[in-house]
Amino acid sequence: MPELPEVEALAAYLRERAVGHTVERLEVSSFSALKTYDPPPSAVAGLAVTGAGRHGKFLDLHLGADLHLVVHLARAGWLHYRDSFRSPAPLKPGSGPIALRVRLDDGSGFDLTEAGTQKSLAAYLVRDPAEVPGVSRLGPDALAVDRDGFAERLRSRRGQVKGVLTDQEVLAGIGNAYSDEILHAAKMSPFALTAKLTDEQITTLYEAMRQVETDAVARSVGQKAAELKGEKRAGMRVHARTGLPCPVCGDTVREVSFADKSLQYCPTCQTGGKPLADRRLSKLIR
Ligand SMILES: [Zn+2]
Repeated sequence: MPELPEVEALAAYLRERAVGHTVERLEVSSFSALKTYDPPPSAVAGLAVTGAGRHGKFLDLHLGADLHLVVHLARAGWLHYRDSFRSPAPLKPGSGPIALRVRLDDGSGFDLTEAGTQKSLAAYLVRDPAEVPGVSRLGPDALAVDRDGFAERLRSRRGQVKGVLTDQEVLAGIGNAYSDEILHAAKMSPFALTAKLTDEQITTLYEAMRQVETDAVARSVGQKAAELKGEKRAGMRVHARTGLPCPVCGDTVREVSFADKSLQYCPTCQTGGKPLADRRLSKLIR
């Protein structure tokens, strides 16, 4: 799933490539992907792209003076920028992985695509981004909070630190992949309880979060939009590296699986050498 660094990079790419151009047409191929009907997609024709930004993991394309195309890419969604499109014909409904297409006046534009059969990419055409339910509920951005704000947000939720860090209402932008990386950098168990974290541990976690996220933003921004996805894996130390050696200590990276996702960690760096119970296995045994 694209997280803060990838979405920031997409916004930066759009600021460079799309801002200043005029929208020729917004085409909708997947009607379930567009969650709003007023204003209609035709309302953006002729509007200038005036900016591009981010709210947590939501991408926000500013159109004209007062419209926003807000997109949540979900797990398998992505934005593909095209210098030109093969056909001037509008997209056929329900065709392939393309959910939406934005055509600009110079012949370029972008497709919002979603791989797989589980479709959860969500786009909203709104006058105010706060009209998007997921945006209005967001906590402060992970890269905008200071150390004390971070401590206050983290302590506002009791639970395991992995779950609290990825709760978008606590902090916006951190997802499954970078939370694995942040906890590894902080040498902290994903199951540590937020209520029991000392001030020193909070400071360590905050610094790890800043470091991991700013490094990832720096790596991602400047890449071409099409190349961003591969870059995410390249910078990872534990996430999606089950069975591989930890680059810090050499121990084998382990995994804990849940129904629909998994987390990775290094036992030596994070849990005093002890493997965490695999929830999926414990459930079967019970
Ligand atoms: Zn390690």
